[in-house]
Amino acid sequence: MLALALAAPLPALADGFSDCLDRLRVQAVKRGVSRATFDAHAAELQPDLSVLEQLDAQPEFSTPIWDYLAALVDDERADDGRAMLERWRDVLQKVEARYGVDPATVVAVWGVESNYGRSLGKRPLLVSLGTLACMGRRQDYFRGEFLDTLKIIDEGHIPAERLTGSWAGAFGQTQFMPSTFLRLAVDFDGDGRRDLVDSAPDALASTANFLNKGGWKNDEGWGFEVSLPPGFDTSVAGRRNRQPMSSWIARGVTRADGNALAANGPDRALLLPAGVAGPAFLVGRNFNVIYGYNASESYALAIAHLSDRLRGGGEFRTPWPTDDPGLSRAGRRELQRLLIARGHDIGEADGAIGAKSRKAIAQEQTALGRKADGRASQRLLEALREMSGAAASE
Ligand code: CA
Repeated sequence: MLALALAAPLPALADGFSDCLDRLRVQAVKRGVSRATFDAHAAELQPDLSVLEQLDAQPEFSTPIWDYLAALVDDERADDGRAMLERWRDVLQKVEARYGVDPATVVAVWGVESNYGRSLGKRPLLVSLGTLACMGRRQDYFRGEFLDTLKIIDEGHIPAERLTGSWAGAFGQTQFMPSTFLRLAVDFDGDGRRDLVDSAPDALASTANFLNKGGWKNDEGWGFEVSLPPGFDTSVAGRRNRQPMSSWIARGVTRADGNALAANGPDRALLLPAGVAGPAFLVGRNFNVIYGYNASESYALAIAHLSDRLRGGGEFRTPWPTDDPGLSRAGRRELQRLLIARGHDIGEADGAIGAKSRKAIAQEQTALGRKADGRASQRLLEALREMSGAAASE
């Protein structure tokens, strides 16, 4: 689809985009956006075709959940999160009093979504959403998000030049979509603007408001790790299959620390993210509330686990079913530095494993006679460390 678009004569592409912007201008004004706002920020937009590539990208490598969690919930993010709990203690207490969501949960969402406000995404929102509103296969959806972005600017919440984000339009410290912003963002620092880009109090309160509106029960927690007896029938697993605690007790489920389950408490569902051989969890309604933030069980588990780490909890007791664990961001950066030292052109050692890093890893794996799956893993890091030590001592 993109190839076709690129093959079309460029003036036709430009004409089509400019006609589309003209139609969006009419719709924006109908929604109450001032003509001046549209003309200042959207009338001269040029499409960014790279967002269409993202829209249609098929993941080249599948990521095992232990790799995903190793980078999202590493010691660094837990340490940073505990510092943020301290720094924003007063605000978080007020947020909990107002929205009924505990500080560790709010800060865990913040840490996973934007690394505590440090990674907001760099793509200009109106360019990405304008492109997706006029081209590609989800134009209706993105048209709404584009118009909502204009509304945010028009209402004076966030200046247009501060509105950058992911290719798909998630932005700010909470990584809300513009429509989510209009529904759920709140002004908590009292300056009259809902600013999820430059105000941590607004971002923290908006996250709590999101979870509150999703049905968060502050006295229930998200769930906990459990152990299953041998021969456990896994057909009862699944996030939606909540059962009374008596049912789990009858099936021989215990807490992962070996203690018996308490018979009272809300119904919970059994989550087996890596099958029966990996860590198991009993999760309640709050897990689904977190899931509502991003519709991914791995994602919800990352936030849930990080919130426990922020409360002083440790790693899961049951290891992931792999002999080659995933790497923290520090481990990934070290791996990338070793790859660079071995002559691979992968850009900076920023801990983000992209296509170039995966290709370099696959080359090293092939040279080592291993499966070339492109994974940034513990064993590959150890192999490269050894080779680098051998090279240094030669
Ligand atoms: Ca504000």
